[in-house]
Amino acid sequence: MSDPHLNLINGAWVPGDHLSENRNPSDLADLIGLYAAGTAGDVTAAAEAAAAAQPGWFAAGPQARTDLLDRIATRIEAEATDIATMLAREEGKILPEALAETRRAAQIFRFFAGEALRMSGEALASVRPGVDIEVTREPVGVVGLITPWNFPAAIPAWKIAPALAYGNAVVLKPAELVPGTAHMLARIIHEAGCPAGVFNLVMGPGSVVGRAMVEAPQIGAISFTGSVPTGRAIARAAAERMKKVQLEMGGKNPMVVLDDADLPTAVAACLNGAFFSTGQRCTASSRLIVQAGIHDAFVAELTRQMMALRVGPALAPDSQIGPVVSAQQLAGNLSYVDLARAEGCEVIGGERLNLPTEGHFQRPALFLNARNDMRVAREEIFGPCAAVIRVADFDEVLAVANDSDFGLSAGICTTSLRHAREFRRQARVGMVMVNLPTAGVDYHVPFGGTKGSSLGPREQGRHAAEFYTTVKTSYSFAG
Ligand code: ADP
Repeated sequence: MSDPHLNLINGAWVPGDHLSENRNPSDLADLIGLYAAGTAGDVTAAAEAAAAAQPGWFAAGPQARTDLLDRIATRIEAEATDIATMLAREEGKILPEALAETRRAAQIFRFFAGEALRMSGEALASVRPGVDIEVTREPVGVVGLITPWNFPAAIPAWKIAPALAYGNAVVLKPAELVPGTAHMLARIIHEAGCPAGVFNLVMGPGSVVGRAMVEAPQIGAISFTGSVPTGRAIARAAAERMKKVQLEMGGKNPMVVLDDADLPTAVAACLNGAFFSTGQRCTASSRLIVQAGIHDAFVAELTRQMMALRVGPALAPDSQIGPVVSAQQLAGNLSYVDLARAEGCEVIGGERLNLPTEGHFQRPALFLNARNDMRVAREEIFGPCAAVIRVADFDEVLAVANDSDFGLSAGICTTSLRHAREFRRQARVGMVMVNLPTAGVDYHVPFGGTKGSSLGPREQGRHAAEFYTTVKTSYSFAG
């Protein structure tokens, strides 16, 4: 363990008011490090530094921004094994998943390195003779980024990269459970030559640091990924201050398996979507909606494969499912397992596992004979638990799939072109998958949902510009 890890404010590493322990959920005896917890005053200092640095950063021009993002991508790639090891150690994702996520972070920086050069506008003739109109995009100014624990590299990357590419300055607050990966990213951004104040890291509790970011007058926009209650609180506070918000919250994503599905494809998609990354993905398949004719064969094969998944420490080479991220999250998952029984489901798996190291291990769970009106089919659990809902026909598939407060991702396994087409059109979600897991997305296309899942413009790809820029319309008359 090295020295305490400090916050990055105005290009300098500064302490907070106390240090917070970062522990390994695969092995609670493993203390990863001590991380500074910032104060509201640290947020003010970071926001002021960002506001002072931002105009110069935009004025430096697209080449400077492209070059910085490209250097950051290269450094992430060079340090990928160390970053992924940290990610696996603090979040519990198995190493291959952590490596893929780290490489994804590099790809995102590389993508936005290119986008910095493509910030474009429009030129139109006015309805008034002799007048020209130009529509251009400008940075919002200072953006506050509040990120969750489940993708400690990719989510900060897909917020930081567009923010910097379009000429904004940044204050980042990572989740309390995963400061290590964020700190490594911050060091890389700093060492890659980011000017002082353009990127700031303030670690610490959401109730202190996150709240102060939403309240800081210098911060004009907040991009948040996390839970619905926190998102709602941020939206309320931001509305009072007329701040732009982009909120990515939960999901209760339906994965449909029709009678005509290819069984191995369907089982593979559901196994991945429901349980990989320990089910800790907002795009996880948590409602498996299965047509009656294939139901029993599907459940038998999914159960067989699920029970064969090796749950173990994130860094052990033979682990397929890592631990749950925290004691609190595990307690929540286990209470949903009890609730599933109380609501009348047959539960397969789901028990706490005691392994040689003390960690938060849980066997994946299926809740059979679930109905869509049960709490286990309506509330996001955010663990390796999926409810299986039997349906009669395609009309019922659509009704059940869309009957949710959320609308992030939806999938269907079918060999029918007609049903696939109809589902793509009728699913009230932001992302639809055909014969693919509901989780697992590309980085150059929009990410986001409808209903209670998202608020504000989409993230990722070119659509990211909607949030990270503001539009200016200029009229000029040559005289
Ligand atoms: P989760 O349950 O997944 O931890 P949260 O919504 O609690 O989701 O956390 C997501 C992020 O929001 C974290 O970085 C957390 O610190 C932050 N956060 C929590 N409460 C607040 C708040 N009141 N204001 C701003 N940010 C917050």
